[in-house]
Amino acid sequence: MKKIAIAGAGAMGGRIGAYLKLSGEEVTLIDNWQEHVDAINQNGLEIKTETSTYHVEIPAVKPEEVTESYDLIILLTKAMQADEMMEVLKERGAIKENTAVMSMMNGLGHADHLAEFVPKEQIFLAVTMWTAGLRGPGKLLLEGKGQIDFQRADGKPDKRTEIIAEMLNKAKLNASISDDVFFSIWSKATVNSVLNPLCTILDKRIGEVGSYPFVQEMLTPLIKEIVAVANARGTNIEFESLLKKIESSFPAETQGLHYPSMHQDYKNKRLTEIDYLNGQIAKYGDELGIDTPANDLITHMIHQLEMKYSH
Ligand code: NAD
Repeated sequence: MKKIAIAGAGAMGGRIGAYLKLSGEEVTLIDNWQEHVDAINQNGLEIKTETSTYHVEIPAVKPEEVTESYDLIILLTKAMQADEMMEVLKERGAIKENTAVMSMMNGLGHADHLAEFVPKEQIFLAVTMWTAGLRGPGKLLLEGKGQIDFQRADGKPDKRTEIIAEMLNKAKLNASISDDVFFSIWSKATVNSVLNPLCTILDKRIGEVGSYPFVQEMLTPLIKEIVAVANARGTNIEFESLLKKIESSFPAETQGLHYPSMHQDYKNKRLTEIDYLNGQIAKYGDELGIDTPANDLITHMIHQLEMKYSH
């Protein structure tokens, strides 16, 4: 991989871009937030960790200013912003005949969206357990450790997958090539589809939602619907382990004190990724003839909340 672009260089894109750059890769950050792009070009990306603050020099451009093409594009806008980003990148000639495009975004359905821009064998799907925060234009807060699970979207192994894994690992991003990335995608999407909207609608931290004595009655229909849809699409997630996984995030020592990102997006008057979580599950359910009333209701409730800020 010679030239790498991070398309959507906010919190997570900033983390991945900075790690790759520090490992010696040629990286460009692409983002349409003018102040952020300016700050990065003037001062480098400022990174604050648990123990230090340092700067990484990386060129940043707005999508409409892109003048070159890339070997690998890592897509890290929010899910609902990805199509617009890909359209501009295509127009600007950033995607060449054999450019690999890797989605590291949360949510479901990315391979189908990307297939409108590149052939399936050039699409890579990744799930990341790294986290990242933005402290202002050009400023990241990077705490904790994480890992990345990824695979070519059509499930086929190839040399390029190995090269990407090596590159991510050289950058200390702890990557592994998955043999069933859809299992990881659906598992993470289940957790996100349960905790993100419930904490947002109820305006509660994860632990507060979890401390409600009847919380299982709220979680069960949501998870059951998601499992039914995933299973019908050929991904073998199962109810009990997902319920346990969600419950394991309730204690204060794990995720209990946190608000999920959807809550933060809503509080900051931004649109949420609901249409790529519960909304996408409901859509798949419709296609498959599987009823998803709990996920439909949650999707509508979040849309109603978003409408508060849309006019
Ligand atoms: P973010 O909002 O911090 O970053 C997105 C960036 O994309 C922003 O800087 C924005 O300016 C830019 N952008 C949006 N639309 C654009 C467009 N059309 N053209 C150019 N730039 C555009 O979001 P994030 O937290 O980095 O999340 C990115 C993805 O990673 C999401 O799918 C999220 O769910 C996932 N994720 C985030 C975390 C985390 O801890 N932040 C963890 C795991 C997964």
